[in-house]
Amino acid sequence: MHPMYTAIAANILFPLHERLKHHTTVAVHRGMEEAQWWDTKRLQALQLERLCALLTQAQVHVPYYRELFGRIGFEPLSMASLNDLARLPFLTKVEIRSHLEQLKADNATGLARFNTGGSSGEPLIFFIGRERVSHDVAAKWRATRWWGVDIGDPEIVVWGSPIELGAQDRVKQLRDKLLRTKLLPAFEMSAHKLDGFIGEIRAMRPKMLFGYPSALAHIARHADERGIAMNDLGIKVAFVTSEALYDHQRSQIEKTFGCPVANGYGGRDAGFIAHQCPAGGMHLTAEDIIVEIVDPQGRVLPHGESGEIVVTHLATGDFPFIRYRTGDVGVLDDQPCPCGRGLPLLKAIEGRSTDFVVAQDGTVMHGLALVYVIRDLPGVRQFKIVQESLALTRVLLATDSQFDEANIGKILSGIQQRLGSEVRVEIERMDEVPKEKSGKYRYVVSHVVPSSGINSDRRSTT
Ligand SMILES: [Zn+2]
Repeated sequence: MHPMYTAIAANILFPLHERLKHHTTVAVHRGMEEAQWWDTKRLQALQLERLCALLTQAQVHVPYYRELFGRIGFEPLSMASLNDLARLPFLTKVEIRSHLEQLKADNATGLARFNTGGSSGEPLIFFIGRERVSHDVAAKWRATRWWGVDIGDPEIVVWGSPIELGAQDRVKQLRDKLLRTKLLPAFEMSAHKLDGFIGEIRAMRPKMLFGYPSALAHIARHADERGIAMNDLGIKVAFVTSEALYDHQRSQIEKTFGCPVANGYGGRDAGFIAHQCPAGGMHLTAEDIIVEIVDPQGRVLPHGESGEIVVTHLATGDFPFIRYRTGDVGVLDDQPCPCGRGLPLLKAIEGRSTDFVVAQDGTVMHGLALVYVIRDLPGVRQFKIVQESLALTRVLLATDSQFDEANIGKILSGIQQRLGSEVRVEIERMDEVPKEKSGKYRYVVSHVVPSSGINSDRRSTT
């Protein structure tokens, strides 16, 4: 590899690409490299200033918010502190779906339509303007550099969204080639495909990996089973995102590839919310995103308490995301990170809300409770637990020759212990557990809605 190439890619090719797309990524990134070291007070002052600007833009140019602010008598310029944000109602997926056109700013430029499957399996269509793209890319770029790698370093991306693959037009392919990114589709993970992936990773000798934790852990485990070393390639870091990262996945990836795992949290809809630094802190992208933690009644909770993550993305003037309910659960930390960055920390992401299952007596529990029943049984290759109703849970199970059939009884009783003794558990054996349409792998899917008191449709339109 030419050591100069990364410098050329990061300093010339990537900036040129972004400029051609009318993105201001380079300037935004430069600002973020500085602001990450600011103290809390200065970061909050920046947030308040940008929040006022966003709300003013929304009031003047976005029909949905013009109507809303008028109705509740909200005046953006009267905001005295960030706490005033709580005077505004939440933005839910239901609201976005029913006001898609009214949420577009009349002065928006380059709006692009996006579509996310959403962890609930409910598709959400929304729009993203150029400003927001620049900010999200810049935040990702900054977090990449925390790990001693940069845009332009050879990268293997294990991803599976059909949208992304479909949108791979010639420009994107050229971009990937220039920036030395190679995509391995995560839809299909047959043994044959995995052998191919391992060969491609070995041939490329990437500096970084990027993908779903389940997919990277799956490849790692396969390499182990084949007895193929992957820790001699000079991989510096494995970036994972988009799913809960389990400890067993982290240790598998770290062991096999011989590099640390860096966890990222965010989404197409909510933005680049937080990313781990090498000191272990999950830093919020505080310049762009205000995070609130709320209880099931919608009240803002103090630091240290667990609740739903609500985000306001400050670079969304073209299609505002203001107090957007993510459906994810997390805790804010008020301790500083040993790395010295002032960006506040997200202490824990306890899982996507749909990772929760509901027992017959109404107890809501993390899907991990069921995952533990199956995960550590020898010979289990893949599984998926689908809670169809309070009365029926299905387990899709792919095993190999090491699997002891006596463990079927353990799975049945383990699930009944947690969900209730009357629950019917159906076990379906198969060679490959099918993935979600997005290519993501989900261990637990629940179709039971917990009666948590969260009412997603608080504002009915008249
Ligand atoms: Zn840190």
